[in-house]
Amino acid sequence: MVASSSRQSDRSSGGAVRPNWIGACVLVAVILTVARTATAFAPLDKWCFVPTGCSLPPRDLVNKTETQQAAMFGKDAGKCGDGICNVVAGETCHSCSDDCGKCNITQPFTKCKNPNHFAITFDDGPSPLTENLVKTLNAAGVKATFFLIGNNAAKHPELWKAVKLAYDSGHDIGTHTYSHRSLGSTGRIDINPAVKKAMTVEEVRTELLMSDLVVEAAIGRRPRFVRLPYLEWQPLSVQAMDTYGYIPININVDSNDWRLQGPAAKPETVVAQFTKAFEEARKWDKSFISLQHDTLAHSTAAEADIIKFLKTQNVEFVPMRTCLGLDPYRAPNANPFLNDRFTKLPIIGGGNSTSTNSTDSSVVPDVSSSSSSSGGSVQSDKPAGQNLQSSAPARVTLRADAVTLLVAVFVVAMVAL
Ligand SMILES: [Zn+2]
Repeated sequence: MVASSSRQSDRSSGGAVRPNWIGACVLVAVILTVARTATAFAPLDKWCFVPTGCSLPPRDLVNKTETQQAAMFGKDAGKCGDGICNVVAGETCHSCSDDCGKCNITQPFTKCKNPNHFAITFDDGPSPLTENLVKTLNAAGVKATFFLIGNNAAKHPELWKAVKLAYDSGHDIGTHTYSHRSLGSTGRIDINPAVKKAMTVEEVRTELLMSDLVVEAAIGRRPRFVRLPYLEWQPLSVQAMDTYGYIPININVDSNDWRLQGPAAKPETVVAQFTKAFEEARKWDKSFISLQHDTLAHSTAAEADIIKFLKTQNVEFVPMRTCLGLDPYRAPNANPFLNDRFTKLPIIGGGNSTSTNSTDSSVVPDVSSSSSSSGGSVQSDKPAGQNLQSSAPARVTLRADAVTLLVAVFVVAMVAL
């Protein structure tokens, strides 16, 4: 509209148009810059990582996630049956299977698919103990699974080397949420006892999305396996995870390593507790998922002996992917806002449409065209995540703003001429 009125005045009044051009240029540039700012995430290193006690999801990031989702789904896209599975409106596979597809998972997995499979898993890392633990596992020829707390990994980029070593060695990397907030009915979180409210569908998704971005920064992949903080869950959180392609994982062999404090915190006690838990689980299950913490020295120091014991028990050590027969990671470049199974919905930002096939993506042309205008911001977030340790994100942002400005000036000038 601005451009066409400027064109009219150009023809009718000749030389007096220059101020209009400049005004139009500035206006378009401002609009584009504001639109870009409104839909982009804060760079990862601006999240509340370092300040003590600041482990809750940063509100500005949640706000921006909402803005991004609204830009993509449309503000009114909350109606079941509109073909859009809209997390902002709380839609899940349970509340709206028409839009979100049928639920696949009714409760978290507690064991493997095949008899005698044994998945050793570690929660709460990474920690300074992780690297040696990976080496111990590698020396024993055992593949395990690590569930990272996003916030913890983000605070300690110096530990990503250990996470990458685990990933490169064939261990699976899963998420333990961003802030270790319960997915159960209390929604509890250690750092703030006042929180006593279950997370909404959107909060569950935001927790996992933020953690994903950190894990992706460390290993280049976004995880699908989720270990439940405190092993707590409720139907709504499982439906939310299922809807967005996550796989909730519980356990049936608990080492209870975290209960050991002070002088009682000895590796041999962990081995004893682990052995006892395994003997119990074996009474009713034929395959196993165990729990330890790679943040506890008495637990990681017990690993060689735990493996030695299990090797006498006719079990096969497997990472979670083999335990469940499921892919631990999303497709590379898949849209961070969507479940890979929503192939109807194209990846925004052009260029990276890996999860869609051409037949499916042509089904929803409206979404495609409306989302492509805001797509650039998602693409620009990825380098920011991968560059968490450097100051590169700021330079990328500045360069992007300069390009926006130049494009705006060019477009307005061309239209006006
Ligand atoms: Zn935990």
